[in-house]
Amino acid sequence: MKQIFDNTEIALALKSNYEIDRAQLLFKMITRDRLVKIGSTVAKFVLKANLPVEKLIRITVFNHFCGGISEEDCTNTVNKLFSKKVYAVLDYSAEGKEEEVQFGAVQNKILNTLEYAKSNSCVPFVVFKPTGLGRFKIFQKQTENILLTTLEKQEWETIVKRFDTICARASAYNIPVLIDAEESWMQDAADNLIEKMMEKYNKQRAIVFNTLQVYRWDRLIYLKELHERAKQCGFKIGMKLVRGAYMEKERKRAQENGYKDPICINKIATDNLYNDTLKYMVENVNDIEIFAGTHNEESSYLLMSLLEKNNIATNDHRIWFGQLFGMSDHISFNLSNDNYNVAKYLPYGPVKDVMPYLIRRAEENSSVAGQTTRELYILKKEKERRKLKS
Ligand SMILES: Cc1cc2nc3c(=O)[nH]c(=O)nc-3n(C[C@H](O)[C@H](O)[C@H](O)COP(=O)(O)OP(=O)(O)OC[C@H]3O[C@@H](n4cnc5c(N)ncnc54)[C@H](O)[C@@H]3O)c2cc1C
Repeated sequence: MKQIFDNTEIALALKSNYEIDRAQLLFKMITRDRLVKIGSTVAKFVLKANLPVEKLIRITVFNHFCGGISEEDCTNTVNKLFSKKVYAVLDYSAEGKEEEVQFGAVQNKILNTLEYAKSNSCVPFVVFKPTGLGRFKIFQKQTENILLTTLEKQEWETIVKRFDTICARASAYNIPVLIDAEESWMQDAADNLIEKMMEKYNKQRAIVFNTLQVYRWDRLIYLKELHERAKQCGFKIGMKLVRGAYMEKERKRAQENGYKDPICINKIATDNLYNDTLKYMVENVNDIEIFAGTHNEESSYLLMSLLEKNNIATNDHRIWFGQLFGMSDHISFNLSNDNYNVAKYLPYGPVKDVMPYLIRRAEENSSVAGQTTRELYILKKEKERRKLKS
């Protein structure tokens, strides 16, 4: 496969020298594990204490990783990305909510992003997290087959209604909705509910997408079983394929509770499962639409070569590459430059509400050291290229 990801001029064309310096500083800080831990604690404290640091956060980490505080505030970034044929997936990133009014507010936010997507063709998907729409504990109890109380049953019905309202609107607007995957001990309930939504709304094409975390060794088996049911019941599968973001938490819980670790034995096993699953999906693209969410270059090259091998057009509407805003621009922009479908998750929301997301991002990045090193290499290389040119 033609190696394209080293072209830093294409990768960082939208970044000013100032933004490159800022990114370098941020990623350098992120590589320092202790600094991330201290920074996260301080950030949590200053926000809780209502100290006036919003502006500082906004011009540093927020502007690098987020699109804005509201949908409209993201428009500038959405248009900028689209000037290079990179699409945006507005991701309302307020995490860790636990109250009914907050879940209702999140539902309304997702419906707003659907309206925004309807009026803006640079936004081809919307996205939400299952536990953005209902309590984690309810998903967990359903997953563990624990009987719900009468009140909890009502709560679950409300969750189902919220999912259905969003999927119905997405279907009416013909805008697919990506549903994130979370911890394994709540995920079965989400999977079952999302499958019902697929059955209802994915008759012609995939409107509802679930997420497959292949750091879980059971996921390709699950996908194959789902595929059989989809063929029998006559619906399409929409699937975002990722490695998975909660590895340490998963391993720790399995060890503490004495059950079999749901995570692959090592990174190579996860990588192999990613490859095998991707192959299965591409070979069955008539039944399974694909959103490959990854910052891994090998996985991205693999998908490119699978398209070529299977005579599928680079911009086939059923196959998307996805990265997070503020990360792996060398993958996103070089792919879009070669006419592949690329979308970046663009987190947004009030600074204070998005902070838990940003902290999670920093912690994740500091634990995936190779990725940060790669970001720093690309930034340095582009700086040198610009210096030579001037
Ligand atoms: C657009 C997009 C959407 C996403 N949506 C979700 C989502 O809905 N749910 C979710 O959980 N995550 C999601 N993620 C995050 C994703 O799961 C990964 O955490 C992140 O992308 C890093 O994986 P990678 O493929 O990019 O890169 P890589 O650097 O190749 O892989 C790192 C990943 O490999 C796995 N891994 C690392 N070490 C080991 C080990 N020792 N044993 C086994 N596995 C290991 C872990 O999953 C780790 O995150 C999303 C990512 C993107 C880009």
